[in-house]
Amino acid sequence: MSEIQATNYYIAQASKIIDLGPHVEQLLLTPEAEHIVSVPIERDNGELAVFSGYRVQHNSARGPMKGGLRFHPTVEIDEVRALASLMTWKTALVGIPYGGAKGGIAVDPKTLSKGELERLTRKFVQRIGSVIGPQRDIPAPDMGSDAQVMAWIMDEYSRLHGFAPAVVTGKPLEVFGSAGREAATGRGVIFVMLDTLHDLKIPVKGARVAVQGFGNVGSWAAHFAHSEGAKVVAVSDVSGAVFRADGLDIPTLMERAKQRLPLADYRAEGVDHRASDDVLWADVDVLIPAALGGIFDAANATRVRAKVIIEAANAPTSPEADEIFARRGITVIPDILANAGGVTVSYFEWVQNIQSFRWTEAEIDGRLRETLSGGYRTVAQMAKQKDLTWRTAAFVVALGRVARATLLRGL
Ligand code: GLU
Repeated sequence: MSEIQATNYYIAQASKIIDLGPHVEQLLLTPEAEHIVSVPIERDNGELAVFSGYRVQHNSARGPMKGGLRFHPTVEIDEVRALASLMTWKTALVGIPYGGAKGGIAVDPKTLSKGELERLTRKFVQRIGSVIGPQRDIPAPDMGSDAQVMAWIMDEYSRLHGFAPAVVTGKPLEVFGSAGREAATGRGVIFVMLDTLHDLKIPVKGARVAVQGFGNVGSWAAHFAHSEGAKVVAVSDVSGAVFRADGLDIPTLMERAKQRLPLADYRAEGVDHRASDDVLWADVDVLIPAALGGIFDAANATRVRAKVIIEAANAPTSPEADEIFARRGITVIPDILANAGGVTVSYFEWVQNIQSFRWTEAEIDGRLRETLSGGYRTVAQMAKQKDLTWRTAAFVVALGRVARATLLRGL
C-alpha cells in the first residue's frame, strides 16, 4: 500500500469514529491545491538539466500552510500529497496555528555541485514564488534540504517580493534562523520517547534503543537518547548498520555524520557490521525509524522485536503493519506526534521573525517540551477514553480540530 493510501486510510478510520460524514471526510482528504513545475538549470558543464518540482497545499483551515521541501530522487506527487496531509494533522495535533503543505524536487542532491543546488533552489522559488509567502505557505527543511537551502529560498523570495524572512523556516542562525531548530525534530522525538517510557514504566537509564537512519533527525535522536542515559545499541544509514550490545559511542558517530562519513567505514572495539535493515529487527526496547516512509508492512511487521516504536520518519507504517503491531502489544507513537518537534520550532522561528526578536535555546527547548507534552497527554487521554491505538487517537484529535475549524469558517 502506498503512503497516500495509508494516510487516507487513517483519515477515513478516524472520520468514522467521530462521525464526520462523507462530505466533510471528502473535504479533508482533498488537497486545496497542487503545483507541479519544471525546474531547469544549467549544469556546471554547460548542459541543461530539467527536474520536476512539487508543492501540495493540503489544508489552510487553521492557518497558513506549513511543511518541508524534500530533495530526493523518489519524490513524486503521491508521496508529496501524503506528506502534505500529514502536516495538516501534525500542526493540528500539537496546536500550532498552521495548515499543512509539502513540496520537493525529484533530485539526488548528492549529485549536484553547490552552485547547481543553489541554481535549482532559486529556480524552484521563481516557479512557486507566487503561491508561497509568510501568511500563505511557509516551506522548511526535509530530507535532502538544509539550512543553506532555506537561506537561498529566503534570499530569492525577498528579491522577488521584498524582505521576508518569515517566508521560510529552518534558516541558518546568522540569517534569521532560530536557536534549537536544527536539532528540534530529534529532540522532540526523544521528549516524546521520555513521556512514553515513563507511562510504560520502562526506565530510560539503560533502555536499549535502535535508530534507523542517521541524517539530521536520526543522529540528533540518537544524541539525545544517549544523553538521557539510554543505551543506543544499533544505528544505520544507507551504507549499513552498526551494532554494539554495550551501547555505541554516539558522540563519535555524530562527529562522523557531520563529516558525512558512512557508517560502513566505522571501526571500533565491539562494533558489529550488519545490513542497514537489520536495525529494524534488533532486540531493543525502543525502535526509532528515522529515514524514508513505507518501511513496515504486513510481510515484515512480525519481525520487529521492539516494545515501542517512535515514528521519527513520516509515514513509515502501513495499516496492516499497524494492526499487527497493535495485536502484538507493541506501542506505536505515530509520526504526527513523534516528529512534530521540527515544525513546532519552525513555528517559534516564524513568530520570532514576525516580531523581530529572539528567544534563547533554553526558552525554545522549554516551549518545545511543553507543546509536545501537551500533544502527548491529549492523545493519551483520547486513546484511553475511546480505547484506541495511539495513531487512531492522534488522527481523531487532529481531524476533529481541523473539521471544526473548517465548519466554523464555512466553505
Ligand atoms: N519537514 C519537517 C516535517 O516533516 C518540518 C516541517 C516544518 O518545519 O515546517 O515535519
